[in-house]
Amino acid sequence: MRQRSALSPQPSAPRSVGILGGGLAGIALAALLGHRGHAVTVYERDRAGGKLRRVTVGGLDFDTGPSLFTFPDVWRAFLARLGEEGDSLDLRPLPGGLGLHHTPFGAVPMPVPPGHPLHPAWEAYRAAAQPLAPHLTTLLTTPPHLTDPIFRRASAALFRATGGHLTASAWVHSRRLPPALAHAVGTHALNAGLAPQDAPSLYALIPALAAGDVARPASGMGALLDTLLALGRARGVRVLEGAEVVRVGAGRGSLSLRGGEERRHDLLVSALDPARLAGLLGRPVRSPAHRRTVSGVALYAALPGESGLPATSVLPPADFGVFRAAVRAGALPPDTLALVHADGPRLAVLLTAPATGRDLGPDHPWVRGQVGRVEHLLGVPGLLASARDVVALPPAHYAAGGHPGGAIYGAALPVWRGGPLHPQTYRRAPGLWQVGTGVHPGGGIPAVLGGALIVDRLIAQT
Ligand SMILES: Cc1cc2nc3c(=O)[nH]c(=O)nc-3n(C[C@H](O)[C@H](O)[C@H](O)COP(=O)(O)OP(=O)(O)OC[C@H]3O[C@@H](n4cnc5c(N)ncnc54)[C@H](O)[C@@H]3O)c2cc1C
Repeated sequence: MRQRSALSPQPSAPRSVGILGGGLAGIALAALLGHRGHAVTVYERDRAGGKLRRVTVGGLDFDTGPSLFTFPDVWRAFLARLGEEGDSLDLRPLPGGLGLHHTPFGAVPMPVPPGHPLHPAWEAYRAAAQPLAPHLTTLLTTPPHLTDPIFRRASAALFRATGGHLTASAWVHSRRLPPALAHAVGTHALNAGLAPQDAPSLYALIPALAAGDVARPASGMGALLDTLLALGRARGVRVLEGAEVVRVGAGRGSLSLRGGEERRHDLLVSALDPARLAGLLGRPVRSPAHRRTVSGVALYAALPGESGLPATSVLPPADFGVFRAAVRAGALPPDTLALVHADGPRLAVLLTAPATGRDLGPDHPWVRGQVGRVEHLLGVPGLLASARDVVALPPAHYAAGGHPGGAIYGAALPVWRGGPLHPQTYRRAPGLWQVGTGVHPGGGIPAVLGGALIVDRLIAQT
């Protein structure tokens, strides 16, 4: 691990902090608070990493969960806050950027390269989003205070770029993009876990802003987990695995662990889904099925050899309206968003599914049907059947440690609350803070790290 720089903050008023949940958000914040001199303990019910974990399939190691590292400037801001010089993650550009999008109107690589018939339309689209580019890291990492001139400037740039359109589909419609590009752009609203009709317009700009800078650590996504844990260890953070919190006494800073042990801290931070926290506080858990973001079935397959597929293929649903109606009703959509990541003999097929907590395995008829569609569109019939082994992580898996039904990005917020402009409930009660996917809208690595940077600063100001 790198040495701390001279910029390390003085450990003023060290406190004992208990963090609930050892996903990326919990361990990222733990490192930041440890750096400020606090004595930090992370309580994790299972294994550290949350949605990012290692599984072995057919003798091959896979890193589950996130596979695309976008907006790496947020990671650099995180390292800078820690006073770390250099970057042990060794982020490498991912070949093909955001991947080849197989829309019903034709295939769209993102970014669209020069010489491609869609290149001029892509450049016009990119130009529309560009004024936001210098401000995006600010929006992701700065407490949303309109009294802060830096945040105000970034918000103004967001308003200018989105042009007053509330939703991703309204923004896409207003730009009159060619149908294939419009469909491919709309697909990325699903990074908020929502159909483009329900996602904030910012999500329609994300491909333009992210496509040129998609990365992955040289040794795989697991390096992010290892690095965060090492950064925390170097700052005295203790991560207790297999330590499930079953009750939280917010005002008293107390928590109970499964098995009966009681712990007390000066400060508690929940890095859990907010609905889970509500349950631990003894409050009603409100999560109607139609107000959840999507879940998924992640299939990790060990192939006998290379698949020959590009690094990333994206297969959107043919009709977002049909898809939206199905997932809101908790029904399996006739065709769903599939992301396919190929890396030598490793294949990951991520199928979007409604957040109903179902245990959908590789042999479920719907999963088989979706895999068949993927293989047909990619021209690789029978690819998954040729695998030496396949492991599936279904909505039931994501529900076990996350939002009810396994909603990957938590509750679906109304569109006007879903972007970075709305102040989130970072402070749940005196002495009880929140971070993580369900708090910083949209989730994903940049939002989770950005949310940790925001809460670190807000705690320091109290
Ligand atoms: C299939 C898939 C693909 C994805 N792809 C991408 C991608 O390409 N790029 C990207 O940026 N993001 C991606 N994401 C999203 C990203 O993985 C998540 O946003 C991020 O990992 C969430 O981190 P978190 O810490 O907020 O939550 P989690 O990872 O859910 O962590 C919460 C932790 O709390 C623990 N916990 C729960 N209850 C308790 C309790 N009572 N006591 C103690 N511990 C408890 C859980 O076990 C878990 O470890 C993907 C997610 C999935 C599932």
